[in-house]
Amino acid sequence: MATQTVAVRRPLAMRAGFIRSAFAILKGLWITNRHFWRNLWGFIIRKPTVFTVQFPEERLVQPNAFRGMPVLVQMDNGKERCVACGLCEWACPTDCITIYPAETADEIERYPRVFDIDMSRCMFCGLCEEACPEEAIVMSQNVEICAYSRRGTLWHKDDLLVPVDKLLDTRLFHVRRGYDR
Ligand code: SF4
Ligand code: SF4
Repeated sequence: MATQTVAVRRPLAMRAGFIRSAFAILKGLWITNRHFWRNLWGFIIRKPTVFTVQFPEERLVQPNAFRGMPVLVQMDNGKERCVACGLCEWACPTDCITIYPAETADEIERYPRVFDIDMSRCMFCGLCEEACPEEAIVMSQNVEICAYSRRGTLWHKDDLLVPVDKLLDTRLFHVRRGYDR
């Protein structure tokens, strides 16, 4: 059987589409190159044009309202402010708080013998802080909770305690501002 060659004439619209696609690719390459050279120049002259935090050498300063991991407020006498009422444990939607209360001869009468938070389950929602009647658990600015094992993400009372002085200018400042509204 004889071979027949057929010359296909592409419609004009299809050829125009090809040209448009080629133009779009070239335009994309031009934009990528423009950003690349501009950012490289900014890097060389030490005037960066990109907002990249060089963690861990650099860290962002978070606003007071920032909700990082929850921590326990440590009073000036070194003890926790928590009275082990269990409201935060009850309010926590992920059930990541575990409290074992005990009695004390102090004025507050109760304290948490055990206060654990499983940070692998905490979602930084802040409901524990909302529920606490004692301002004893507040959100902090810390989000560095990585660990090499699941057990390592279980934070105990001693890990959670933060002196009240360190919280006064950050989250506690934000919480107390709410009282005045
Ligand atoms: S921040 Fe939310 S999830 Fe985390 S311990 Fe508090 S209530 Fe639970
Ligand atoms: S709600 Fe506050 S006082 Fe009650 S157990 Fe939780 S942290 Fe302690």
